[in-house]
Amino acid sequence: MTSAADKTLGIYIHVPFCMRKCPYCDFYSCENSLHKRDAYVQAVCRNLELYGDGRDVDTIYFGGGTPSLLSPEHIEKILGTVSKAFTQRAPEITMEVNPATVTRETLAAYWRAGVNRLSIGVQDLLEDALKALGRLHTAQQALDTVYAAREAGFENISCDLMIGTKGQTPERLDETLKGLAALPITHVSAYLLKIEEGTPYAGQNMQAEIPTEDAAADLYLQMVSFLETCGFMQYEVSNFARMGFESRHNIRYWKCRPYLGIGPAAHSCLDTRFYVPADLDTFIKEVHQPTCLEDASPCTPEEKIMLGLRLAEGIPLCWLDTRQRKRVERFCKGGLMRTEGERIRFTPEGFLVSNAILAEIL
Ligand code: SF4
Repeated sequence: MTSAADKTLGIYIHVPFCMRKCPYCDFYSCENSLHKRDAYVQAVCRNLELYGDGRDVDTIYFGGGTPSLLSPEHIEKILGTVSKAFTQRAPEITMEVNPATVTRETLAAYWRAGVNRLSIGVQDLLEDALKALGRLHTAQQALDTVYAAREAGFENISCDLMIGTKGQTPERLDETLKGLAALPITHVSAYLLKIEEGTPYAGQNMQAEIPTEDAAADLYLQMVSFLETCGFMQYEVSNFARMGFESRHNIRYWKCRPYLGIGPAAHSCLDTRFYVPADLDTFIKEVHQPTCLEDASPCTPEEKIMLGLRLAEGIPLCWLDTRQRKRVERFCKGGLMRTEGERIRFTPEGFLVSNAILAEIL
């Protein structure tokens, strides 16, 4: 069961449109057409009304796909429906933005529509790296998007960064990190590139061209230390924030707090964990979005330990039994975990091998 004490709800809206598929990406998205976007927004609103139970919504997250392919009017319509179907108390409203899809004017209009946090898909600030990632934007466009967002009124801006990409060296990463640190942003999400099966990158045998696992681990540790020096504290494996700007929505996932996912390929965790099949046409056609059960009783003690240890604050030691605590001691001695008072947490080096450690502890 999700955290019983938490009566609030987070809403995730999966926007399944992209201008073009990036060769490394396996998220669900389809080709973008105005007709489909209108029908999709209608279906999102219909589902919000059907799920609406007046519950307090304190985070809303537009993810994708490319949510910035929806117009400000689309976003306004969806947010208007949320406010009618639920209660809202100063929610954090995040929208993922692709720099290739926005202008000064649209950013200002998203702000007026109620969005108050942006997650901008910068990925890198070197042109050749962006090309190799198949991104449609240039480094200058990424910088312009951040400044235009700031001018539009956004104070809470996150940038996405990719680590372990083709040709990335410590020097090249340093250049991108210095560029990011000079921007008026509050948050960085940094992901290690993983070659996903079925993507064009997998077909091109990109694994052989990207940094080795050890080199990527060094790049990750370089990034953690650089960002911390600049005041972005690591609060999760892949997330860094200035004080008070941690993503409230994403913290829900790691603390087993309830969230409702709307849209094809969206996941939810309420009394059960379920997902919507990745099929836009069915989502548009059906009155109520179809769902598939993933877990009838989510947020077991083991799951809470696994999710809680993703956070830099770690978990209370009392969540572990005697046998598990003995195992943890070994990783503390090896510098991969650390106890702080009555809590246990991973070190940055431990985060890199957290899956293997968790498999041994649990
Ligand atoms: S824009 Fe984002 S969601 Fe769309 S294909 Fe590229 S990485 Fe994937």
